[in-house]
Amino acid sequence: MCELIKRGQVETTWYCNFVCSNQERKKEKNLWVGLMLYTQNTHRLLVVSTECSPSNCQLPSCYCPGTAIPNNMPVSSVPQMVMLTFDDEVSAAFYGYYQRLFRPGRYNPNGCPVRGCLFVSGSGTTYDLVYPLYALGVEIASHSVSHRFPHTWWSGASYKDFVDEAKGMRDNLINQAGVPRSAIKGFRVPFLQLGSDNMYSALYDSGFE
Ligand SMILES: [Zn+2]
Repeated sequence: MCELIKRGQVETTWYCNFVCSNQERKKEKNLWVGLMLYTQNTHRLLVVSTECSPSNCQLPSCYCPGTAIPNNMPVSSVPQMVMLTFDDEVSAAFYGYYQRLFRPGRYNPNGCPVRGCLFVSGSGTTYDLVYPLYALGVEIASHSVSHRFPHTWWSGASYKDFVDEAKGMRDNLINQAGVPRSAIKGFRVPFLQLGSDNMYSALYDSGFE
């Protein structure tokens, strides 16, 4: 049985917070806490989150969020990972900043150079500026051709839309910037707006990793 504790709407996304218990959970004296999101466009369930515990989440397929270190490794031997990623157009406005940030001579504690990833969108990008950043060791990835508004367009986009946007931008980076096909592995959807199975199928079929 579930008890709805809150219902609301943010733009076109509805959400329900609920607390449920079932036979299994009752035995464990645990409540099942969930968050459901669905959109007006697709009426599709996007996310169901449940309370995570070692009983329902085990490595290597699952790991509960938190500050505990996996496998009881000592703190002193666990490196802190910092990921540098930037979205949108590569243009003269940002080029100098990227060059300073990723300039040669900056190293991680293990001696490897500092690196990052640029998720590049088509609108506003000056392609001549992309290759020099790739040559500095910055990873280049796709962030769509159009980066179109509204952000909810992406949640209802078709398979073909995603092929056109994700693979299309990769093709632009290959053909107009000269970045090797083998170096472009990733795609980040604009606004981080997940695009249902259409997005994952299109990315998989297009060879994104
Ligand atoms: Zn963006």
